Parts: sequence; C-alpha cells; structure tokens
Amino acid sequence: VKLSGKRNYRFYDAKYSDVLRARTQKEEELRYAIEHNQFVVHYQPRVDIFTGITSSMEALVRWAHPTKGLIGPNDFISLAEETGLILRLGELVIDLVCAQLAHWSNRGQELVPVSVNVSSRQFNETDVANIISSSLARHNIDPKHVEIELTESSMMGEAAADALASIQKIGIKILVDDFGTGYSSLSQLQKMDFDVLKVDQAFTSQLEASEEGTVFFKTIITMAHTLGMKVVAEGVENIEQVKILKDLKCDEIQGFYISKPLPPSEKQPILPRFFLP
Ligand code: C2E
Ligand code: CA
Ligand code: CA
Ligand code: CA
Repeated sequence: VKLSGKRNYRFYDAKYSDVLRARTQKEEELRYAIEHNQFVVHYQPRVDIFTGITSSMEALVRWAHPTKGLIGPNDFISLAEETGLILRLGELVIDLVCAQLAHWSNRGQELVPVSVNVSSRQFNETDVANIISSSLARHNIDPKHVEIELTESSMMGEAAADALASIQKIGIKILVDDFGTGYSSLSQLQKMDFDVLKVDQAFTSQLEASEEGTVFFKTIITMAHTLGMKVVAEGVENIEQVKILKDLKCDEIQGFYISKPLPPSEKQPILPRFFLP
C-alpha cells in the first residue's frame, strides 16, 4: 500500500510539473508576444435594431501567433489576467484601436465609435482614464469615438465609482458587459449612471425557447429604460431573436446574425445599413 501510494504520488507529481512547465512556457510566449506586438484587433458591429445603422464596433483582440495562426482571446486572456500581463496587453489593445481610428480618419472616413474590453485587473490596478486619454491624444482622436466595456464584477471595488466617474468625465461611455451574469444591485445601477447594458448571450439564446426568457429580457429593458440606459442583446444569431427583441423594444443588437468580428478593412467602418425584419 505504501509503495503504490508513493508511486501514485510521484505519478501525479510528474504530471503536475508538466502542467506547470507548459503554463510557464505559455506565459513566456505571451510575454514575448506582447513585447513584439503579435496582436491584432477584429471588429464586430453593434447595430440599432430599428434603423439598422451601426452605432459602434466592439474591438476583440486576437494573438497572431507566428506558427499557430490566429488565437482567440479565450485561450490567453485568463492567463494574462492571472499573471498581470493583461495590464500591458490591455494598454496595447487601447493603442491599437486608437491607431486604427486615426488610420480611418486620415483616409477621410467618418468614424464609428469603438468599444474596448477592459479587464478587471486593468480597471482596478491601472489608471484607465489616463491611459486612454494619452493614447487618444497621441493619435489625435476625439474621446467620443471610444467606449469601454466592463463586467459587473470588475466594478465591485471601493475605488470603482471614482474611476468610472473620471472615465465618463473625459467623454467616454461605459457599457456593462455580460449583464445578467454578475451581481449588480438595482441601487448600484441607479447610482452609477451607466450608458449601456449589454445583456449576455446566455439570455439571448433563451429567447425563443421559453416564455420565461422573454420575460427576463423584458424586465431588464424596462428597468434600463427607466434608469436612462440603452440595452444591447449580445450573441444574436437568428431572425426569430431579432423579431422578439424588436417587440420588446431592445435598442441594439450584436451577433453573428449581423456579422462576425472582422479584421479592419480599408473601407472600414463596415457600414452598410443592415436590413432587419
Ligand atoms: P465578450 O466581451 O463577451 O465578447 C463577445 C464574444 O462573443 C466574442 O468572442 C465574439 O466573437 C463572440 N460572439 C459575438 N457574436 C456571437 C454570436 O452571435 N454567437 C456566438 N456564439 N458568439 C458570438 P471572442 O472574440 O472570442 O472574445 C471572447 C472574450 O474575450 C470576450 O467576450 C472578452 O471577454 C474577451 N476579450 C476579447 N478581446 C479582449 C480585450 O481586448 N481585452 C480583454 N480584457 N478581454 C477581451
Ligand atoms: Ca465585450
Ligand atoms: Ca459580452
Ligand atoms: Ca444614463
């Protein structure tokens, strides 16, 4: 018993160190990638449900890995968060977005605002207002062209209200991302004066399935409108969802039904007007 126990222990030990080694290697690769700018940003439009006009585009980062090709954020954002690399990566994304806006603007395109995802650590450990405004100034871009997306849980800290206020003071809109999956209270929502609630895809996907899903959405929309906020449905994939959301007076939609995230094109912003039922 003792022997096999020992062997077992060693077996797990070896496996564990393999996992650790792989993780450390990925962390080093990620660090290198950040230093060498191996990231690109794709853009996904968010559309007014009544006019079909693009009101904004969400910036979604991808790692352009030299041998593995494009890697999606689900494969590296949590590691970046755990290791703190997200602080530099986050700054890099903000700068990539401002540079892209400047590029479009220099080509004479009319700009559509871009919303940038800001992670919890980035929001709580760095001066996001300052980082964004320096990047905007460097690229000569008006703050009204940038918005930020924050989850409910990242805004729980003591200093959150002050940080949010200084971001809004520069003229940058704040969107609550993945709404419905966190724990914001009604009083918190009322106090904070956010601009937009982005309702998580999990709720959009329940729209056709059950009456309950529809009622849930309707309740959020009524509450948001009472508090002066717009509502975006995330992850809209089909026409049935669009119809229901229109009936519910949801303001905007985003999802594969409209467009998947796309690399920036020379003709950007992707602005055909979308025709909705
Ligand atoms: P998110 O902020 O909730 O972004 C929406 C995700 O849903 C994106 O995945 C998008 O491609 C995907 N999506 C959009 N429409 C649909 C649809 O109709 N159906 C389905 N099934 N999926 C849809 P992506 O690009 O893989 O990003 C995943 C997550 O990674 C994001 O979730 C966000 O939390 C994070 N992320 C992406 N870019 C950044 C970034 O620059 N900084 C930080 N901190 N996080 C980022
Ligand atoms: Ca988002
Ligand atoms: Ca989301
Ligand atoms: Ca408001």
